[in-house]
Amino acid sequence: MSALPAFAGRLVAWQKAAGRHDLPWQQTRDPYRIWLSEIMLQQTQVNTVIPYFQRFLARFPTLQALAEAPLDAVIEHWAGLGYYARARNLHRCAQQVVAVHAGKFPNSAAALSTLPGIGRSTAAAIAAFAFGQRSAILDGNVKRVLCRHFGIEGFPGQAAVERELWELAERLLPAHEIEAYTQGLMDLGATLCTRARPRCGECPLAASCAARLGGRQGELPSARPRPQLPERRAGFVLISDGRRLLLERRPPHGLWGGLLVPPEGEAAAVLARLGLRATRQSVLAPLKHAFTHFRLTLEPVLCIVEPPPGVGEPGLNWVALDTAATAGVPTPIRKLIERISGQAG
Ligand code: SF4
Repeated sequence: MSALPAFAGRLVAWQKAAGRHDLPWQQTRDPYRIWLSEIMLQQTQVNTVIPYFQRFLARFPTLQALAEAPLDAVIEHWAGLGYYARARNLHRCAQQVVAVHAGKFPNSAAALSTLPGIGRSTAAAIAAFAFGQRSAILDGNVKRVLCRHFGIEGFPGQAAVERELWELAERLLPAHEIEAYTQGLMDLGATLCTRARPRCGECPLAASCAARLGGRQGELPSARPRPQLPERRAGFVLISDGRRLLLERRPPHGLWGGLLVPPEGEAAAVLARLGLRATRQSVLAPLKHAFTHFRLTLEPVLCIVEPPPGVGEPGLNWVALDTAATAGVPTPIRKLIERISGQAG
């Protein structure tokens, strides 16, 4: 993979020239500040984080101060940032570092990732910025950059795709300048390679970017696959006397509540229930219909009955064939009725 050093090199050069350098948690090697910023940035935009970060530090200037503070005070200073598990983990993490590590954050990504609230990517970012350690980050922004640049297919949340991305992120790591490289990846994902309308014209990776070269920025990363919907089947008996169609009103609740539909069930059972006898019967092609939570295959049977019976059961309606399709029936039933209007006569 000869392109890899070029990837890191271009990113580092761009970060130095055009990346972000004056965020309040930059220009420091203080693990406490870096850790705090990384946790705050996990689900929140930079501009929102800045004033919280400053107020938080004013109230809890050191790891020790945070560890000794009551949890309520920590939550109070977090209020508005959301995802409060982060605040609880922050407090637990501070106490753990004080109790187990004598108040000093461990300097490897592996050890950092054992602490509350610090996942693999956050641990790598802290290790890079606070200790200059060479380890790979892979947050949502970085996944987007890698999927686009390397044309990686598949939803990045899927285990196999994520594994591939971690391997790639590890292989891409430069031997030097890990801080500028890590910051460069973050800056690129946050400022140029944004989810909508990436600014490829300004991107240092544009010349080798698979998404840009193929015009596929809108397709990569791949969207979350739609869940497989459960399949159901149901028989519907279209009973006609040649001029009219027999419809039943569904109960008010449940599928198609209150609408008119042909009797549901197996043809012989439905005819017996209604005291009808078919003179002609034909099985029609099934019709598929997708609901939000399942797919239904309608299996229609057309039954011609004669003479026109006087069915008096409550809920049963004989509706003229030429108006049945517009008589308050659900869409797939309308399609079935349209299909049979020529055959029932
Ligand atoms: S060229 Fe465009 S799509 Fe490719 S990495 Fe750069 S900003 Fe993202």
